[in-house]
Amino acid sequence: MAAQILAGKEIAERIKQEVKNEIEFLKQKGIIPKLVAVQIGENPSSAVYLNAQKKSCQSIGINHEVISLASNISESELIGFIQKLNQDREITGIILQLPLPQGIDVRKVQSTIAVEKDVEGVNPANLGWIIYGRPFLAPCTALAVKELIDSTNIDLYGKEVVMVGHSDIVGKPVALLLVDKFATVSICHIATSEHGMLETHVKMAEILIVAVGKAHLIKGDWIKEGAIVIDVGINKLGDKIVGDVEFETAKEKASWITPVPGGVGPVTTAILLRNTIKAAKNLIT
Ligand code: NAD
Repeated sequence: MAAQILAGKEIAERIKQEVKNEIEFLKQKGIIPKLVAVQIGENPSSAVYLNAQKKSCQSIGINHEVISLASNISESELIGFIQKLNQDREITGIILQLPLPQGIDVRKVQSTIAVEKDVEGVNPANLGWIIYGRPFLAPCTALAVKELIDSTNIDLYGKEVVMVGHSDIVGKPVALLLVDKFATVSICHIATSEHGMLETHVKMAEILIVAVGKAHLIKGDWIKEGAIVIDVGINKLGDKIVGDVEFETAKEKASWITPVPGGVGPVTTAILLRNTIKAAKNLIT
């Protein structure tokens, strides 16, 4: 039987509605959340992304500002700038848009974003809270994956989860969020493929999450009958955007599957809004 489609847009709309209600609550307390995105130099793909971000913030009543800094900024100047944003009481959320120019230590700069304004969950302290099973502001895509899985009402206890991809903002935090619910989580990566074991792992997955960035890396016939498949990948294939999983064949075996586009992406955007409100609320309590 063909899989049910995990429609990210519907889940995103529900989250946005919840966020709107929270904004009303904040307004009554005299707080208007303000998100500042800092970008270094000009980057056309960042500009498109930041414009979309601005639109979605403004559509629900979050103030949004993009600050562009010169591409020859030094690491210490950038850290000094972020520290000023940390201290600005009007700013409730900070995003540091990547990439940064060569020679700037990304992790070092991210660690200077105030933990309570770090709406993308990239400060090591926020990543650390996930390890303790007490996520506060966690990376948006990792939370989006968890939200999509939860929307199927599956009980994670003891389930075989395979996470393909071990990035700091998707693969690793997803694995931690799920292991905390007592799922049995395997993390696969490039070396798993090179060792010839990717297919073996994928075939065991009752819940498969893929965040690699390689079109159709995961073959449809590897999918376990009845599996839940969450495809995080975004790849250009000709004039189409496709995921990391062969959607058409995988959907014949899965019970639930996310489309690309329209699956993880819209939920990630909605979670950013939720994190922004969470941060703003935390600042007044
Ligand atoms: P990344 O680029 O930092 O890391 C890629 C991961 O894939 C690594 O763990 C690497 O070892 C693994 N890998 C590479 N080739 C492999 C192979 N042949 N077999 C198995 N594993 C392999 O990852 P990222 O930043 O998490 O991004 C992954 C994908 O997810 C990209 O397509 C990105 O655009 C997409 N993404 C989507 C969203 C969204 O909101 N939808 C958000 C973040 C990332």
